Amino acid sequence: MKSLFDSIRYLKGIGPKRARIFQAAGISTVEDLLYFFPRRYLDWRNILSISQLKENTLATIKARILSIKFRQSWRYRGPSILELEVADESGKMGMVWFNQSYLKNYFKAGQEVIFCGKTRRYGLFLQMVAPEFEIILKNEELLESAGRITPVYPQIEGVSQRYLRRLIQRVLKEYLPYVKDVLPFDIRQRQNLLNLAKSLREIHFPENLDLQKEAYRRLCFEEFFLFIIPVALRKLRLRQRLIRRQVPEGKLLEKFIAGLPFSLTSAQKKVIAEIKEDMTKPFSMQRLLQGDVGSGKTVVAICAAILSIESGFQVAVLVPTEILARQHYEKISREFLTSQQLQKEIKMGLLTSGTKEKTKIIQEISEGKINLVIGTHALLEEVVQFKNLGLVVIDEQHKFGVAQRSLLPQKGNNPDSLIMTATPIPRTLAITLYGDLDISVIDELPPARKPVITRWVREKERFEVYKFIREKVREGRQVYIVYPIIKESCVLDLRAAEQMYKELKREVFGDLRLGLVHGQMRQELQDKTMKEFKEGKIDILVSTTVLEVGIDVSNATVMVIEHAERFGLSQLHQLRGRIGRGSQESHCILISEPQTEEAKARIKIMSETSDGFRIAEEDLRIRGPGEFFGDRQHGLSELKIANPLTQMQLLRIARNEAIKLIRLDPQLLMRQNQGIKETLKKKFPGYEELQVVG
Ligand code: ADP
Ligand code: MG
Repeated sequence: MKSLFDSIRYLKGIGPKRARIFQAAGISTVEDLLYFFPRRYLDWRNILSISQLKENTLATIKARILSIKFRQSWRYRGPSILELEVADESGKMGMVWFNQSYLKNYFKAGQEVIFCGKTRRYGLFLQMVAPEFEIILKNEELLESAGRITPVYPQIEGVSQRYLRRLIQRVLKEYLPYVKDVLPFDIRQRQNLLNLAKSLREIHFPENLDLQKEAYRRLCFEEFFLFIIPVALRKLRLRQRLIRRQVPEGKLLEKFIAGLPFSLTSAQKKVIAEIKEDMTKPFSMQRLLQGDVGSGKTVVAICAAILSIESGFQVAVLVPTEILARQHYEKISREFLTSQQLQKEIKMGLLTSGTKEKTKIIQEISEGKINLVIGTHALLEEVVQFKNLGLVVIDEQHKFGVAQRSLLPQKGNNPDSLIMTATPIPRTLAITLYGDLDISVIDELPPARKPVITRWVREKERFEVYKFIREKVREGRQVYIVYPIIKESCVLDLRAAEQMYKELKREVFGDLRLGLVHGQMRQELQDKTMKEFKEGKIDILVSTTVLEVGIDVSNATVMVIEHAERFGLSQLHQLRGRIGRGSQESHCILISEPQTEEAKARIKIMSETSDGFRIAEEDLRIRGPGEFFGDRQHGLSELKIANPLTQMQLLRIARNEAIKLIRLDPQLLMRQNQGIKETLKKKFPGYEELQVVG
């Protein structure tokens, strides 16, 4: 009996050599081959003669190449132009490509080629700009494909399009009867989805373009659906863990909020209400808090902490850097816990690798004498044990890996988790990737913030920038100057923090007070410098990206970022978030000579918008989900054709169906769900651990 798991080695016409080539391209079974989808199509159904063509219509012609012209525009960085003159029996026309110089080696005069594109008038003749094309090597091929929409596959070195088309066509014929549809019938019916066999046929050799679209939709749906099921299972499992909890009363929280030096924004209030609601439920909270830089997530986290403490629990706040831990600690004790009652009830502790009385602090944590501990990775060490951990807060979650994030909750008995991120992503995408979490969004900045004015300047304007810095310092403001690296190196020709600190001190700002921080400095020195900066004893802080997370000094209103093209979008946004925190106008100056179009685009987006959602979206678009999330969100690479960014509607539908199915059959025991179970086992090894028991 035939099976889709048959190795392609046994297919007719594939010898060991071809099998190896396919294997290197990730194709070893019949199934792999069926899921090797065309990159695009050529519409060969209706081949017109040149004399039949009209202006501004999409058309396909077959013509012979008469001449090939290639020229580089004389303008600096102007486009390169490739022009073909082609003809059939009925007439002549032109084909043109801009900036695709590699194409010039594809064509030879005399070749017969199928062109497919939109026509436009150019002088006396018609022209197609950047048409799709296929060079006809043998006439029989034309006969085979004439009258069809013909697939064009991703290039595999050493395998021709013609060979691939024939192979796949044959395999479809032989194997489609053995294709089993994993999607249950009722879902297909409800969502109007083609069955799998039909979809595979139509994606390779579409009868018409509408059916091709339908096939594509169905296959994307399936990818999303299978991707979401494990996430939905995880959520359900977390849900089923019952914990005993005391519902917080909220008196202490009221007192806390009343004592704050500002009133909460309505977005903050809304999120606090959501958290409070979570804490009345019989299972632990698993909440992701998204909010742009400066939207005030910290105070919301502390509100959650107070609710938990009021119910008799301990709270741990995990942050990625020592500077940030200390800053949170000081801010909370100095500005937030103002009344005596609060100070009595909330016993704070700071635990970082640089903490002096570490043993004592760890002791007090285990005895429950400290009930709010702020710390870095040091919190994750095994020696740190809690008496009664009820809430875990993870700040700047993107700085931690999945494994690290799960260590802290294990120190308690199913504690609540609040996970915070300042790299917000579109909600639908967030729901998918963090589908096991509930999501809150702070979509409003505290009032009286002036937007940061961002400017991109060139190297030659450096001295203007220095002058501007001097002016601002004279007005009493403070300044950050950020460099991409700490030390100069012979590999990278970049300005570096250490050298520039010396140079600026010596030659430019000799009369001002300069400080330097970077991640390789001793901890005490970093802390000391940050403290002085916060107290206004330093005018200009030269640094690296250690500043990126969390630092909060509202009198600092100017940030200069050197070699801005070296930083990712989200990183630039985080850095810029360090200014614009008070009521003064703030300025971010990007000094940059971007070398690539992409770098230029990044710098441009930064000067156009300060909306963190938009920036994250652009960043996602530029880098793609895989890069954007790093290797930390595994499973994303399973999405081969579906794109969560552009198919949000389909994603939403697939998600709803997945959740519905899991609710009905959490262990995938029903007969119609066996296919799903089998596929998940293959795609996500270990997914079964996620299954809900009992
Ligand atoms: P992020 O969300 O980036 O972590 P923070 O929690 O550091 O932001 O808050 C940024 C600054 O805004 C802090 O100085 C904080 O005390 C202040 N802040 C927070 N909420 C408000 C508010 N409702 N009104 C005014 N200032 C606020
Ligand atoms: Mg923060």
